[in-house]
Amino acid sequence: MKPVLPLFIFIDACGWEIVKDDPFLTSVAPLRKRLTSVFGYSSACVPSILSGRWPSEHRNWCYFVYDPANSPFRILRHLSWLPSAGTSRRFFRRLLSRFIKAKLKFCGYFDLYNIPFKHISLFDFSEKKNPLEPGGMNRGPNIFDFLEEKKVPYHVSNPTKSEEFNLEALRRDISREAIDFAFLYWPGLDGLLHNVGNQSPSISDKLRLYEQWIDQLMLATRDHYAATHLYLFSDHGMANCDQHFNLRKQIDRLPLQMGRDYAVVYDSTMARFWFFNQNARTLITDRLQELPQGRILPDEELERLGALFPDRHFGELIYLVKEGVLIVPSHMGERPIRGMHGYHPDEKHSYALLSTNQKEIPEDVNAIPDIYKLMKREVEAVCARQNAGGVRKERASKLTATAPESATAAV
Ligand SMILES: [Zn+2]
Repeated sequence: MKPVLPLFIFIDACGWEIVKDDPFLTSVAPLRKRLTSVFGYSSACVPSILSGRWPSEHRNWCYFVYDPANSPFRILRHLSWLPSAGTSRRFFRRLLSRFIKAKLKFCGYFDLYNIPFKHISLFDFSEKKNPLEPGGMNRGPNIFDFLEEKKVPYHVSNPTKSEEFNLEALRRDISREAIDFAFLYWPGLDGLLHNVGNQSPSISDKLRLYEQWIDQLMLATRDHYAATHLYLFSDHGMANCDQHFNLRKQIDRLPLQMGRDYAVVYDSTMARFWFFNQNARTLITDRLQELPQGRILPDEELERLGALFPDRHFGELIYLVKEGVLIVPSHMGERPIRGMHGYHPDEKHSYALLSTNQKEIPEDVNAIPDIYKLMKREVEAVCARQNAGGVRKERASKLTATAPESATAAV
């Protein structure tokens, strides 16, 4: 029997608005707090949670950046003859993404999404490493580096495996008393919310399933750990997309040429521009200022949000739409989806959740990067208990799942 298992369960997109009127886990983790999210997608939120730092510090923000000199995608230019619509194209892109990920040895999540092959060689992909591993950040350490440094044996989910598989893998490690820290990652709710929106009855069904799984986990820990410090949290919520906005059509009407005058990445809720001449900067800025669906974010605001990059690595101009507006078609998708995140962190459905079975949530835990503080404090407490008990640690052991791949990935 071991003394304590710190158990951190990350449910992607389980936002404050999703659960605030739902009895989700109130019996097992009754203390709840609404957390401010990080501006960006999971590609920004997850690294912020894992490192305790903001995107401008760790430099994991949006996936695609304008960088033709370093683009690994040059070979794909010749695929521009492919049909521009249809499910076969999406199927083909998924296959191609998997092939490229292996060929370029990308370790994180990778998808070509809907970037036209004609323009793909203008871009680099910014998440080549897996943030769920030690050394996985673009800059600086994450919690797994800290665990390795402190030689604390831990379990972390493998995001390429199914939720059920990762649950089972953790249960095995718990029953072997092989770990002193656990980080479980479930992306299924995010995918469901994107498809059905935040009002579907299937959301409640999914929450009930998670409750069952967490109850089972808590029962399993009882035989092997005297106490379980449970923290359940999310990275953001999910807004329903009621307004579709063809921003690309507005920009394509201007007497400018993509690749010659400017470059742009159309994400689902923002557009990021790079300008190659003053005329393009003026025409595009003027056009964006006329569009009521969103606004250009000023530098002061980006700085406040921890998303100002002085080298403009992720774009010289960031245009963000209002909650509920979906840029479609975009480079993320050709067709509308029901729910989306990546709006301003002040918007209602952006807020994230933290719930715990501990007596209090510290006052300095207010935004999702603060979850790192909770993890670090728990790791330090493990070390203190081990030192007090005179436990000798030979080496850190990383225990992860190892079974056939199944497709689960967060947008
Ligand atoms: Zn998502």
